Amino acid sequence: MSDYDFDVLVIGAGPGGYVAAIRAAQLGLKTACAESRETLGGTCLNVGCIPSKAMLHASELYDEAASGKLAKLGIKTTVELDLDMMHGQRREAVKGLTGGIEFLFKKNKVEWLKGLASFTGKDTVDVAGKSYRAKNIVIASGSSVTPLPGVEIDEKVVMSSTGALELAKVPGHLVVIGGGVIGLELGSVWKRLGAQVTVVEFLDQLLPGMDGEIRKEAAKIFKKQGIVLKLSTKVTGVTVKGDKATVSVEPAAGGVAETLEADAVLVSIGRRPNTEGLALERAGLTVNKRGQIETGHDFGTGVRGIWAIGDVVPGPMLAHKAEDEGIAVAENIAGLTGIVNHDVIPGVVYTMPEIAGVGLTEEEAKARGEVKVGKFPMMANSRAKTNHEPDGFVKVVADARTDKVLGVHIIASLAGTMIAQAAQAMEFGATSEDIAYTCHAHPTHSEALKEAAMAVTGKPIHI
Ligand code: FAD
Ligand code: NAD
Repeated sequence: MSDYDFDVLVIGAGPGGYVAAIRAAQLGLKTACAESRETLGGTCLNVGCIPSKAMLHASELYDEAASGKLAKLGIKTTVELDLDMMHGQRREAVKGLTGGIEFLFKKNKVEWLKGLASFTGKDTVDVAGKSYRAKNIVIASGSSVTPLPGVEIDEKVVMSSTGALELAKVPGHLVVIGGGVIGLELGSVWKRLGAQVTVVEFLDQLLPGMDGEIRKEAAKIFKKQGIVLKLSTKVTGVTVKGDKATVSVEPAAGGVAETLEADAVLVSIGRRPNTEGLALERAGLTVNKRGQIETGHDFGTGVRGIWAIGDVVPGPMLAHKAEDEGIAVAENIAGLTGIVNHDVIPGVVYTMPEIAGVGLTEEEAKARGEVKVGKFPMMANSRAKTNHEPDGFVKVVADARTDKVLGVHIIASLAGTMIAQAAQAMEFGATSEDIAYTCHAHPTHSEALKEAAMAVTGKPIHI
C-alpha cells in the first residue's frame, strides 16, 4: 500500500484549484482539495467574477429602465430600486454556483479538506491540525487585494472590491482609486444605480495593458456616461471621519493638490498573490520579486512533485486562465501532455459596452514588425445600430507579410461573446482572410468582426 494519503492535494478551491482537482480525479488519481473558505469556488465565485456580474447585469437593466432607454423602445415603466433584492439575487447566484462545485467534488470523489493549508515538508501539508502526505501538491492559492500604503481598508467607508459589491445603500459620491478592470466594473454598477463616480488613475490612461486606441475610446465612452476621470493623478492619502472620507490627490508628475469628499472609496489598484501562511520555505520554494511562484511550461515549480497555477503564478489574473492551467497541470501530473497557450488568453471588461482583447495590441505587434490593421465601427453594424448600441469598434491586427491574425480588440455591447471567435481563429493560426471569408450570420454583432477582417485588406462592405 502507498505511504501517501493522496496522489494529488490541491491547495485552494478557486477556478484554478477546483478544476485541477476535478480533472485529476477524472483521470483516476486520488485527490483532495484544501480550502479555508466556508464555500468552494475561490475569489471568482464568492467575491469576484460571479457576484460582480450579478450586480453588473441587474444594474444594467435598472439603468435601461431608469434612464429612459426602455421608454425609447416603447416600453413605459415606473422604476424603483430595491437594492436589498438586487443583493439577494447576487447572493443566490453565488450560493447556487458554489454549491454546484461542492456537488461536483462529491460526484468526482474529490475530498474537501476544510481549513488553511501550510507546508510541513516537500510532500506534506498540514490542514486544520492534521497532516497529509501527497505525491503531488498543486498550489492554487490565488490572490487578494493590493493595499495602498497609508490607506486603511475598513470595508465600511474605504473598501476593497468585496465591500464594494455589498454596499447597503447607493453612495452619494464613490471615489475609485485605480482605473483598471475592477474600478470600471464596480464604478459602472454604482454609477448606474445613481452614485456620482470619480475614478482616480495614476497613469495617463485607463486599463493598462489593453490596446491604446481601445483605451482612449473607453475613456471617451465612460466620460459620456458621466463617470469623472482623473487621469495622471495619484492619491496621497485618505482620511475617514464618521461615514465620510476625504481623498487627497495630486497630479502624478507633481503640482497642485486637491481633496475629494466621498461617501465611499474603492481601492482597486491590483491584486497580489496569496503565499503568506503557506510556509513555502519548508518545501524549499521561493517567490519572485512580485511575490509569485515561478513555474515551467508544465506548471512544475522546480521542486519535484510541487506545482503551481492561477493567480499565484505569473500571467494575467483571470479565472479562465486559471481554469485552463488547472486542466493542464492535472494532465501533466497524470503523465499526459497539458498545455496552455498563454499567447491567446482573452480578457474582457464587463462594462457597457464591453471591452475585450486577445493577442498582441497594435503597439506590441508594431514593435515586432510590420502590421496591417482593419477596423469597423459598431455604428455601421446593422444589429448594433438597430439595438441602439452604436458605441465602439472592432480592430483586427494582422502580420503585414503573412496576414496571420496577431490580435483582435473590441469595444461593443457583446464584445465578451464576440472575442471567443477571435481567440479560436487565432488558436487555429487564422489569417484575416480566413475570418473575412467565414460566413457570419446576419444580423449579428459578430459581422463587425468579419468586416474588420475585410478592412485589413481595405475591402469592408458596409463602410
Ligand atoms: P482564487 O480564485 O483566488 O482561489 C484561491 C482559493 O484558495 C481561495 O478560495 C482561498 O481561500 C484559498 N486559499 C488560499 N490560501 C489557502 C491555504 N493556505 N489553504 C487553503 N485555502 C487557501 N476574472 C475573470 O476571468 N473574469 C471576471 O469577470 C473576473 N471578475 C473579477 C471580479 C472581481 C471583483 C475580482 C476580485 C476578481 C475577478 N476576476 C475575474 C479574477 C478572478 O477572480 C481570478 O483570476 C481567479 O479567481 C483566480 O483563480 P485562482 O484559482 O488562481 O485563485
Ligand atoms: P488592475 O491592474 O486591472 O488595475 C489597477 C489600476 O490601478 C491600474 O490602472 C493602475 O495603473 C492603477 N493604480 C495603481 N496604483 C495606483 C495608485 N496608487 N493610484 C491610482 N491608480 C493606481 O487591477 P484591479 O482592477 O484591481 O483588478 C485586479 C485583477 O483582477 C486584475 O488583474 C484583473 O485581471 C482581475 N479582474 C478581472 C476582471 C475581468 O476579467 N473582467 C474583473 C475584475 C478583476
